[in-house]
Amino acid sequence: LHNTNEPVTSADKEFENAIRPAAIDDFSGQPQLIENLLIFIKAAKIRGEALDHVLFHGPPGLGKTTLSRIVANELGVNIKETSGPVIEKPGDLAGLLTNLQPNDVLFIDEIHRLSTVVEEYLYAAMEDFRIDIMIDTGPNARSIQINLNPFTLVGATTRSGLLTAPLLSRFGIKSRLEYYSAAVLQKIIERSAKILNTKISTEAAFEIARRSRGTPRIANGLLRRVRDFAQVLNDGIIDIGITQHGLRALNVDEHGLDEMDNRILSAIIEKFKGGPVGLTTIATAVGEESGTIEEVYEPFLIQEGFLQRTPRGREATEKAYTHLGLKPFAGKHP
Ligand code: ADP
Repeated sequence: LHNTNEPVTSADKEFENAIRPAAIDDFSGQPQLIENLLIFIKAAKIRGEALDHVLFHGPPGLGKTTLSRIVANELGVNIKETSGPVIEKPGDLAGLLTNLQPNDVLFIDEIHRLSTVVEEYLYAAMEDFRIDIMIDTGPNARSIQINLNPFTLVGATTRSGLLTAPLLSRFGIKSRLEYYSAAVLQKIIERSAKILNTKISTEAAFEIARRSRGTPRIANGLLRRVRDFAQVLNDGIIDIGITQHGLRALNVDEHGLDEMDNRILSAIIEKFKGGPVGLTTIATAVGEESGTIEEVYEPFLIQEGFLQRTPRGREATEKAYTHLGLKPFAGKHP
C-alpha cells in the first residue's frame, strides 16, 4: 500500500502545492547545497546576469521542483515549467525559449527524457542564447537564427546517469539532493501540520519522520493519511498512539522502506543467498531497470545499512535479514 512517491491525482498535486515552501527560509535541510546556491544567486544578481544553468539530481520527492521555484523566487525572475517528454519538437522548445524575459528560469523536469533532436537544439540555446530553426522544406529549406534573452535552465532528474556528456557539461552548477535525516523531516512535518491546522505531538512527528524513507514527499503523504485517522478516531489530534495505529493500518514499513526496497532485499537474500550479486542480475530478478535501482533505490538502502556494495556485487547486510524477519546469514554458514 501507500508509499507511492509520485503525486497521482490532482488532489495530490493541490495538497503538495499547498504545503510546498515558497521561500528559502522555509526549505529545510540540504545545508551545503543551499549555502552554495545562495552565493551563486547573489553573485549573478550583483552582476545583473542570468544565473548559470543548474542541474538538480537525486531520487524523487527530495525537493528538486521546490528548489527550482525557490531559485527563481530568490533571483526575482519568472519561472516557466515544463518536462522532458512534453517538449516533442524543436519548435516546442523554440516557443518556450523565445517567450522568456531576460534572466528568467526555464525549468525542465525529467530532463533525461528529452528527445535527442530537442536536446541538440538546447545546446546552442544554453551556450550562446540562440536557436537555429529550419524553415521551409525541400529546396527552399534554410535555417534562421533567433537570438534569445539570457536565461537560466534548471534541469531536474532522478536519473543523471542517463544524461549525455554534452548536456551535462553545459550545466555550470550541478547539485545532488541527499536523503533527509529524521530530525529534519520532523521539522518539515511540523511545518506542514501547522499549515494544515492540525495538532501533532513531537513524538508523533518524529515517528512519521523516521518511517518516511528520508523523503519529504513521503513524510507529507503519511501526515495526510495519519491526519485522517486522527480526525475520525482521535478528535483530530495526532499523538503517538493514533500515529502508530494509522501507520500499522497503512502497512507502513518499520523503517519506511517501500515495496521495491523490500523486493530488492528479499531477492538478494532468497534468490542469491545474500549476495554478492551483480546489479543487472538483481534488476532482472525484481523487474526494474538496473539504472533505476542504482540511482533511486540503492542509495537509500546503502545509507541505511541494508545493502553493501562490494567489488563482486551487492550484498545484503545483517540488518536486512533482521528486517525481513530472517535469520542473519542463513545459508551462508552451512
Ligand atoms: P522532487 O521535484 O524532487 O520530486 P518536490 O520538490 O516536488 O520533489 O517535493 C515534494 C514535496 O516535498 C513537496 O510537497 C514539498 O513541499 C516537499 N518538500 C521537499 N523538500 C522539502 C524541504 N526541504 N522542506 C520542506 N518541504 C519539502
